[in-house]
Amino acid sequence: YLVSKEYKNETIIKFNDFEIKNNNFTIIAGPCSIEDRDMTFEIAHFLKENGIKIMRGGAFKPRTSPYSFQGNGMKALEYLKEASEKYNLLTVSEAVGIDVLKEIKNYVDIVQVGSRNSQNFELLKNLGSINKPVLLKRGFMNTIEEFLQSAEYIALRGNKNIILCERGIRTFENQTRNTLDISAFPLIKLNSNLPIISDPSHAAGRRDIIPTLAKASMASGANGIIVEIHPNPEKALSDGKQSLNFKEFQSMVKELINLSSAL
Ligand code: PEP
Ligand code: MN
Repeated sequence: YLVSKEYKNETIIKFNDFEIKNNNFTIIAGPCSIEDRDMTFEIAHFLKENGIKIMRGGAFKPRTSPYSFQGNGMKALEYLKEASEKYNLLTVSEAVGIDVLKEIKNYVDIVQVGSRNSQNFELLKNLGSINKPVLLKRGFMNTIEEFLQSAEYIALRGNKNIILCERGIRTFENQTRNTLDISAFPLIKLNSNLPIISDPSHAAGRRDIIPTLAKASMASGANGIIVEIHPNPEKALSDGKQSLNFKEFQSMVKELINLSSAL
């Protein structure tokens, strides 16, 4: 396996002035959905001021209900690109299908594959030939082995710049939206050369335990987190319940910095 530990010890995802790798912790933050121009710029400005280098923002949203807000599509990608250029940020957004991938790869620095598409093998094959890193989320019904096989689909077509993301799996527990599989971090580190980050937002589905899950992820060997923030979570068009406001985000970052010096 190209993504295995036997093949290679570590894959380092290199950007201009930093790397996603072991003994490094990268924080990616931004709204679930890019809602309007103002909020996009407000968040980008906030991230820049807080030293965050990668902004997330959904444009094409994979919503469970067809009646839920589906994202602002191309307009959202334009706002994200504009804001990230102004504030010198890197960006990540989700390709929900091959058609979207063709567009999105011209707008963002990292292409996300969502949990629901984690075994969309035709999409994965197409990601194998783009020249941008892929943020591959674990399918919420997938084992760690299946997850790595999905990554292998991308690597096999030539693109080895893959960042794995544990975002919670489906269990019987209903106090959270998903169950963050903390074991995934050490197990992936044992078996794979790829970096893995944590998405405590989609795991928890509720904002109150996100900082704790973020710290647990760091202590378990995750190489970073991707977290949803919103200037006014109560008004968010998607995933408001699990979005941190700016203050909550800042205090989580402080806690993570404290933990990293203790580890
Ligand atoms: C998201 O990142 O907005 C998202 C939909 O995540 P997931 O695919 O993990 O549910
Ligand atoms: Mn979301």
